[in-house]
Amino acid sequence: MELLKANNIKITPQRLAIVRLMDEYGHISVREIFEKIKENFPSLSLATVYKNINAMMENRFINELKIVGQENKYELVKERHSHLICRRCGHIEDVKIDTSKLEESVPAETGFAVEESSVQFFGLCRACQSKK
Ligand SMILES: [Zn+2]
Ligand SMILES: [Zn+2]
Repeated sequence: MELLKANNIKITPQRLAIVRLMDEYGHISVREIFEKIKENFPSLSLATVYKNINAMMENRFINELKIVGQENKYELVKERHSHLICRRCGHIEDVKIDTSKLEESVPAETGFAVEESSVQFFGLCRACQSKK
């Protein structure tokens, strides 16, 4: 995959499979990756999946998403975005909204030097709203 090459990441069939899953599902946990990947790589251990994820994270190729009440999810690094998280079904959606004002206001009001931030919105997705 060109993206892996461009990021100087050693390409292995396992990594390629992990990247494909992330591309397909958007946000996925290590356990979910492991369950889906073991059909094609029966000898692959959960520890190896973790190792691959960590290596790609160090290369800033994938991003870790910590969500309260959920397993950590991973996604391919892309344009900055925030997340909409459904409390009922756990669905995670990307949303592009301008959070720059928020990031400017924190140092201005508190003197805290912000290095990074992420915004997560919790609520009900459209599908869950319609089945009450
Ligand atoms: Zn939902
Ligand atoms: Zn995302």
